[in-house]
Amino acid sequence: MLEEKKPTKTALEDLGEFALIEHLTKSATAALPSTLHGIGDDAAVIKHEGETVVSTDMLIEGVHFDLGYMPLKHLGYKAVVVNLSDIYAMGAQATQVLVSIAVSNRFSLEAMEELYAGIHLACKTYGVDLVGGDTTSSKQGIQLSVTAMGIAPKTGAIMRSGANEKDLLVVTGDLGAAYMGLQVLARENEVFKANPNHKPDLDPYTYLVERQLKPEARKDIIALLEALEVIPTSMIDISDGLSSEVLHLCKQSELGCRLYEEKIPLDPQFIAVCEEFNVDSTTLALSGGEDYELLFTIKQDDFEKIKANPNLTVIGHMTDKSDSANLVTRGNEVIPLKAQGWKAF
Ligand code: ADP
Ligand code: MG
Repeated sequence: MLEEKKPTKTALEDLGEFALIEHLTKSATAALPSTLHGIGDDAAVIKHEGETVVSTDMLIEGVHFDLGYMPLKHLGYKAVVVNLSDIYAMGAQATQVLVSIAVSNRFSLEAMEELYAGIHLACKTYGVDLVGGDTTSSKQGIQLSVTAMGIAPKTGAIMRSGANEKDLLVVTGDLGAAYMGLQVLARENEVFKANPNHKPDLDPYTYLVERQLKPEARKDIIALLEALEVIPTSMIDISDGLSSEVLHLCKQSELGCRLYEEKIPLDPQFIAVCEEFNVDSTTLALSGGEDYELLFTIKQDDFEKIKANPNLTVIGHMTDKSDSANLVTRGNEVIPLKAQGWKAF
């Protein structure tokens, strides 16, 4: 996990908006050839060859995160990563991000430094340039909005709508861990509130907590697919839970699908903690959000190219629309998939 510094506190109003922006963005790079001009003017200047993909996401304190267990550095990192995930889900290379923040006077300069340490780290890790944003005050709490840009592959951006009947449904990594990580953190937070001397032992939960606090976007998979010479027919990232994303692919590709319960990749720690919490692991893998894995379809002919790769699991196949989207359980029951995705409302 990322380290956090001990806070001393400088009020934001002592600094003023321009000095704050300057202070927070001084280590921003404009390293990519496509970034002609980054921070500092009225707008950044970007020059992409081919199609540009662009996406934006908002993160609201109390809705999308709780600073009780989300350190600011992690928040900054995650805010960038979840946006990059959307860019990779188009099969694109992420290149630039813009970050807008609204903060109340409850936050100090040092707190903002923590947030930006995470933002800069994510940019460095993924090789993207921070090219702008906006900084303003809020009446209450902190709100963030990140916009990410990228370059689509020459063959074109990969849409949710491109799947064909009989295509294989493939997922990366494993599912459900980020959601269980949140459950673990929420439980520890409750215990801590009741007893501030409580020292949480998160050792049995490291993977889950890391998946929640420091998610990664699957940039590696875009490179892997290129190396394997596999072009997905459709793709989406898993932010709201497998079920809901599968339904998006089905709806936008006008198809049905069969998803096999026994094929859904689960981490052993996730399975163990589901048992501890007495919850059904399949249900949580289907509905727990924030995995930021990629879900995509490939032609059956491409199966040979991906079958040996431990990062990729075939979990089902696309069917005719009249078949709708179904889960085939371990007991061979066929049940309709429901969108139980994580909802902000
Ligand atoms: P303007 O008044 O034209 O909106 P600003 O003073 O808001 O200009 O911004 C000056 C420069 O700093 C711009 O390049 C803007 O994109 C950048 N910037 C402002 N806030 C942020 C931020 N929170 N993160 C990154 N860049 C920022
Ligand atoms: Mg501005």
